[in-house]
Amino acid sequence: MPRPAIFAVAITGSIPRKKDNPAVPVTPDEQIESTHEAYEAGAVLAHIHVRNPDESSSSDPALFAQIQEGLRKHCPDMIQQFSTGGRGRDPAERGSSLRLKPDMASLATGSVNFKTIVYENVPSLVDDLAKAMLNYEIKPEIEIFDLAMLYNAADLVKRGLLKPPAHVQFVLGIPNALPPRRKVVEFMLSELEEFLPGATWTAAGIGRHQREMARLSLELGGHVRTGLEDNIKLDRHTLAPSNAALVKQCIALCEETDTRPATPAEAREMLDLRAAA
Ligand code: ZN
Repeated sequence: MPRPAIFAVAITGSIPRKKDNPAVPVTPDEQIESTHEAYEAGAVLAHIHVRNPDESSSSDPALFAQIQEGLRKHCPDMIQQFSTGGRGRDPAERGSSLRLKPDMASLATGSVNFKTIVYENVPSLVDDLAKAMLNYEIKPEIEIFDLAMLYNAADLVKRGLLKPPAHVQFVLGIPNALPPRRKVVEFMLSELEEFLPGATWTAAGIGRHQREMARLSLELGGHVRTGLEDNIKLDRHTLAPSNAALVKQCIALCEETDTRPATPAEAREMLDLRAAA
């Protein structure tokens, strides 16, 4: 029997790149439409950033609320995950949309160098975001950009700031952070089992590593993330025409890995989430 795997779509991200690929949805209407198409293609979890009209990164809860409402209307059982990450956002504002109680929110448990910047998550901010998620009964997706973040997440559990079972995402292929290597993923999985037993996980490959990491994740028992936030191309020569196209491309890996896309209800059960509102 094929194993059900969760397909997540990161629709927008925080880097302005509409000029590189016009399919990147930026306004709430574009985001709702693009997510709906991805949902019809088989994605059951949407990872959401919002943008100002000039395409810069925003934390405005009013924008998050518009998307939340639109998605509840058009894809009512889809899992909504708000980003609390992101360059160009005031740290004090990064948790401001959590009061809207999305199903999930992203939580990076440490700082890391990216290609040209430091992605800064000071310990007090990590604790504050974790506490807010606990308060609002939001399930965090722990973003692991570097190995220490795995142990930091285990420490959050120990201090009562993160409720097990955790859901973690290994992010691979960002310059200066974790390389997209099978050995790295296998090592982190053995540490995950020891430090966060029962955790669910995804290995997400950035850019040209997306499909390779999706295949590895499916093969090793994990879930998949794709979308225009991580990759604006279908292959070296072709821009992705939509988030849905990237989802379809990853779902095509199911057959060779004896997996199938999980339904929204299955995904909610696996992630220990409440039923759709
Ligand atoms: Zn993101």
